[in-house]
Amino acid sequence: MRMNLTNIWLSILTGFFLPTFATFAQAPLSCSDQSLNPEMARAIGLTITGFEGLITECKSEGCCRARNNAAHGYATGDFNELTRITAQFYDPAILVAVLGEAGLYPTGLWSFHDLQYIGQGAVDLAEKVGGLARLKALMGRQRITRKSKGYLWKCPQFAACTFIGLGIEFYDELFSDNPLITDDFIRGTVVHEIAHAIDFNLARLSYLSKPARINPIFPSSALPRGPYLSEYAITGGFQEYWPEAVSDWVYGIKYKPNAKGTYETKVREPITPQQRAIIENILIDLPLD
Ligand SMILES: [Zn+2]
Repeated sequence: MRMNLTNIWLSILTGFFLPTFATFAQAPLSCSDQSLNPEMARAIGLTITGFEGLITECKSEGCCRARNNAAHGYATGDFNELTRITAQFYDPAILVAVLGEAGLYPTGLWSFHDLQYIGQGAVDLAEKVGGLARLKALMGRQRITRKSKGYLWKCPQFAACTFIGLGIEFYDELFSDNPLITDDFIRGTVVHEIAHAIDFNLARLSYLSKPARINPIFPSSALPRGPYLSEYAITGGFQEYWPEAVSDWVYGIKYKPNAKGTYETKVREPITPQQRAIIENILIDLPLD
């Protein structure tokens, strides 16, 4: 299921130089920071399309604050209390800024429609691990690229793929009209790929003798296999149980429902309390200075 936003592929350029992400990560976003800058976008090779007509200007501090909260997954209630929501991005600039806080750097051609799912998945995972800065520390900087399909030895049949040192690619299949591709599945797949990136990055830090020395090979192997999470967790190779478990940790059954006729023919089971503790021990508590 796709969000009902216009998706007209006009080539309007937007974005920021990479160094500006740091500024956004520390200071609250103000509406004046959200101007679109074609020259900067061209410089980092990013094109975002399909947002024309969606942008409305904020005229008050309250409006800017509400948009900033929404981009971080919170709605402001009547009494100023914050309620957790799926992140909403009011324009490409605020979306790219939030992705940058998480350590995700989009390059190439993206539609605003597709890129929003990446932001939503990242914000949902960040909420669980303790914030976007924590997620960035776990994952390191990752380039995210939108392509029609994979091309290396194992990726052509997948909806997304993560490569050690080369970032994450997302393919047409993930955003297709296939009725099994629900919004939750897209966001869950984003979390799945980020979990691979975390696995690779923590392994790299282990090799560098940083505090992340939790496992001699990959952190994913610290998680013992247990319940049936998904077909892919079982058949996808030794590193696929970990990202499926992390996606289950964030989205539960919504990630891959097992109602008849959907993703799973076998009844899915949630991760065990012991597996949950191992995931939280790594993603929330592992020191990463
Ligand atoms: Zn995978």
